[in-house]
Amino acid sequence: MSVDHITWAGEALRALDVEANRSADTHMRLFPLPAEWGIDLYVKDESGHPTGSLKHRLARSLFVHAIANGNLGPNSTVVESSSGSTAVSEAYFAKLLGLRFVAVIPEGTSPEKMRLIEQFGGVCHPVSAPTTIWEEALRLGAQADWHYMDQFANASVVTDWRGSDNIGASIFDQLSRERYPEPTWIVVGAGTGGTSATISRHCRFRNSQTRVAVVDPEGSVFYQAWAEGRNDLVSGGSRIEGIGRPRVEKSFVPTLIQHMVRVPDAGSFAAMRLLHEITGLRAGGSTGTNLYGALQIISQMREAGERGSVVILMCDGGERYLDTHYSPAWLLARGIAPEPHHAMLRGLLTTGVWVDVSDAAVDARV
Ligand SMILES: *Cc1c(COP(=O)(O)O)cnc(C)c1O
Repeated sequence: MSVDHITWAGEALRALDVEANRSADTHMRLFPLPAEWGIDLYVKDESGHPTGSLKHRLARSLFVHAIANGNLGPNSTVVESSSGSTAVSEAYFAKLLGLRFVAVIPEGTSPEKMRLIEQFGGVCHPVSAPTTIWEEALRLGAQADWHYMDQFANASVVTDWRGSDNIGASIFDQLSRERYPEPTWIVVGAGTGGTSATISRHCRFRNSQTRVAVVDPEGSVFYQAWAEGRNDLVSGGSRIEGIGRPRVEKSFVPTLIQHMVRVPDAGSFAAMRLLHEITGLRAGGSTGTNLYGALQIISQMREAGERGSVVILMCDGGERYLDTHYSPAWLLARGIAPEPHHAMLRGLLTTGVWVDVSDAAVDARV
């Protein structure tokens, strides 16, 4: 780095620090369970970030890391392969630093997503074949003064999991005065895999007994990759935005995961609806996946006579999905029927008993 470059990097890191200082941490909310269960379920509401999702944390970490590495300068254009929340959050930070941001997205990305990326100052660069978005981002990123952030390669590397400024530390801080301050389980989904890796490393670092469970939707390779120790799997990909991948991403670290739960899409959408009915929180589909997996784990804790606390994340808000995850027509067109799962989960909230809801369509896809 030249001297000018070092000066710019210092100013850029300071601007990120100033932004963090004026922002608040996210709320930890309670999902009520019958008192006699002796189990507390918490929902960490990551939709409260300025860019509306847990990707706010990732985007900040990617920028801090790239700046400290000397990968960014005052004339940089940042590029990312993402059609979703990462592009929205990165567009926000790029704008804050006065940098250009380009999101390489698959053609057919919802107009709402594109609008959000553009609202935060980003430019959308659609490509026709979804499988070529990584190559296109790599190609653009190789140009002079361009930098490819590559969230799927870097998410689990760029985040500081030791210190006090990560989602794991925040969870432990916020539970510190609760009756079960050390969660028995933290249940999250994996898109990049960065969140599960950060939380699990932080748990080990602070010598906590907390276990990390990852929920995986239909069409994702992560479950099989974890169960069989393979990284060569490919699939069609997931319908739950933000989680489940068609290939084993570099940031997905199986050794950090103590348990995985496969979740049918109908179950994710049923739990998403349940969360809204019980708490008033309107979340995206991946939050439903988390809740579905957590309730299954809680029923197993009950069976074993275990007490304690369980934490899930609310990854983003439901406003982004009114035309998709929340639309009966969208669900119907895909043959997704959440009702049986919804009835089962409702029953579980009184009986504590998990009932398998068989679903031929799911069995065929998983
Ligand atoms: C990215 C994302 C996740 C998963 O987080 P990772 O850290 O990438 O594994 C879950 N839900 C939503 C909505 C996301 O955008």
